[in-house]
Formats: sequence, structure tokens, C-alpha cells
Amino acid sequence: MRAVRFHDFGPPAVLRLEEVPTPSAVAGELIVKVGAAAVNHLDLDVRSGTLRWSVRLPHIPGTEFAGEVAATAAPCDFAVGDRVVAYEGTCGSCAFCLSGRENLCYAATHIGLTLAGAYAEYVVAPARCFVRLPDAVPFETAAVAQLSFGTAWHMLMTRGHLQRGETVLINAAASAVGTAAIQIAQLAGAHIIASAGSATKLHSLRALGADHVVNYTTEDLVAQVMAITEGRGADLVFEHVGGQLFAQVMRLLARGGRIVTCGAHAGEVVALDLIPFFRREFSLIGCRRCTTAELAHVLVLLAQGVLRPSSIEFCLSHKLKRRTKSSRHAKTSGKFCSRPKLGFFTMPRKTSPGQRITFHDCNA
Ligand SMILES: [Zn+2]
Repeated sequence: MRAVRFHDFGPPAVLRLEEVPTPSAVAGELIVKVGAAAVNHLDLDVRSGTLRWSVRLPHIPGTEFAGEVAATAAPCDFAVGDRVVAYEGTCGSCAFCLSGRENLCYAATHIGLTLAGAYAEYVVAPARCFVRLPDAVPFETAAVAQLSFGTAWHMLMTRGHLQRGETVLINAAASAVGTAAIQIAQLAGAHIIASAGSATKLHSLRALGADHVVNYTTEDLVAQVMAITEGRGADLVFEHVGGQLFAQVMRLLARGGRIVTCGAHAGEVVALDLIPFFRREFSLIGCRRCTTAELAHVLVLLAQGVLRPSSIEFCLSHKLKRRTKSSRHAKTSGKFCSRPKLGFFTMPRKTSPGQRITFHDCNA
């Protein structure tokens, strides 16, 4: 089969389209024909070698994808033709797996990290790595939405306990996980403040449903949030940026406020003033992906059209530095389409093994 691999960590130019052995399944595994694979920030970190994770080279990246079961090896609960999306390969027997928190499994394997990823025609992985995909959800939608919507649900609803009428600040809200969070916060009946770094993004976020927007590059985020909340502060902050933005968040929380966080691309190590942290009973809550139940739930909401990825963009270019938009470009929300932050990948049809190709880093 054809697959996109890299033999050394580095920029997009290290990606090569190569002919590799088609995988075969052993007991309990599925072979899935890839329908669409997303470009996640995680894939960029894996390729560049900045992820704090051991990756064996050469490596096929691609953590998020959806496809159809092409072969099975008993025992497993899937049949050939079943539509599936990727999840982590959990052990099914540790304390976390047995208590429905399998996102914290002690022995999980990861497609695109510890296992070969989805920038290929086929993926082989344990059946526990997959969740069924409703027929109404296209592969492209499932590929770009699984991690962002699943994670946003886990952060806001399960970990953040967002309540109707509460004020939530969603940072870097024009991102994939941010636009997912806005839609879920709307469902929860929360009052939404969205922050982003450009006027164009703010305009789109208002159209998507944010009640208030703040440009954190030109405005004082703390002052704006305190003014909007009449001095009370935000009840919940949806954080995935880190760095300077995280430091500001500590100064705009309401008493008893919570911060849920799942990322730190702008700075992984931050200072924390412990005095207001305990005097005002703040909570800082780490979040890691989502559970299979949460993923299945958001897939149903996507199938019903209750949730929609803000936009999908075809991200593969066949020639260096050339960016290609697919004719199948899917402007799925009709409300938010300014600067797509999601992408999906499909295998190019006319290429030769060894050809060097470049991905547009749409999430960079
Ligand atoms: Zn486990």
C-alpha cells in the first residue's frame, strides 16, 4: 500500500510518499481502509520531534481518521464494512478502563504515535482502538471532529461541570477545539466570552454564537472579561494555549472559578500565584482527550446536525509550497468559514513511490 512516512524528524519536507507492506491483522485487531484522515496539531509535533513521546522511525503519522473495516481477526465485535473512527487502544482491564475513564488507561497504544498512523491506505490496530461511526456522519467530518468535539465535551461538561447561566471564557476560540467548545457551551446554556487574535476571527466567533469577543493581542483580556462580567469574573475558563494567556486567566476567574486545560503550545511552564489560588478556591483541571462514551455521544450529535465542524479544508499539496484546496471543500456550518483551522488528508491518486510531498501546516 502507499503511505506517507518520515525517516527523520523535521519540517513538512521530510514527509515522503512510499510503498510499504500492507498490514495484516493478528487476534483482536482490525484492518481499516482509511476514508479520511485529519491534520491535527499533534501530528505536526510528532513530525517535528517536539512531542514528549518516543516515536520509532520511519513513522507513518496520522492520529485522527475515519474509515471502513476491511478485515478482522477474531475475537472482535466489528464486521467487515463497519464504519469506524479512531480511539486510543486501551487495555480494557485496568482500574481506569473498568471505571469508564479509559482515556487514562495505564497501557494505552496510540494510532499515529506508538502505532503506525492514518496517512496511509490502511491502518491496523486493536479493535479497542475504534468506535462505531453513525452512517450520517461523513468520513471527512468524523476525521476532523473526533478529537476536537470529544475533547471539548470532556473539558466543558465532564471535567468543567459547566452549568446553565455560567460565564465561560473560551481562549483561542477560532481553533478546532475552540469552535467545538463554543457549540457545546451554547448547548449547555452558558454565557460565552470568546478570545482570539484577529478581528476576522472575532467576527466569525460572534457569528458562531459567542456572546462577547475579545482580541487578546490588542485588548486587555483581564479588563475586558471583568468589565463584561461586571467585576465578577469568569466561572469557567477553557484553556489550551498556555504561556502568557494562561497567566492572565488566573486574574480573571470568579471566586470558586475553574480552569480546564488540554494544551500549552504557547508555553508549557507557567508561573502560578498560589495566594489567590487558595483564597478564592480556584480549581485547575487537566484534561486528556475524552472517553469512548463521550466520543460516541458527540458522534451522535454530529449525526443529528446538532454539532458541526466549523470548516474542513483539504490540506495536501503535491508540490512543494503549493497549497491545494479541494473542490470538495466543505463549508459545513454556513456560519463560520473565515479561516479554516481544520484539515483532512486523502491519498493522492497520481504519485510515485518516493515522491516528496508537503503538507500545509494548517494548524500551525
Ligand atoms: Zn486500561
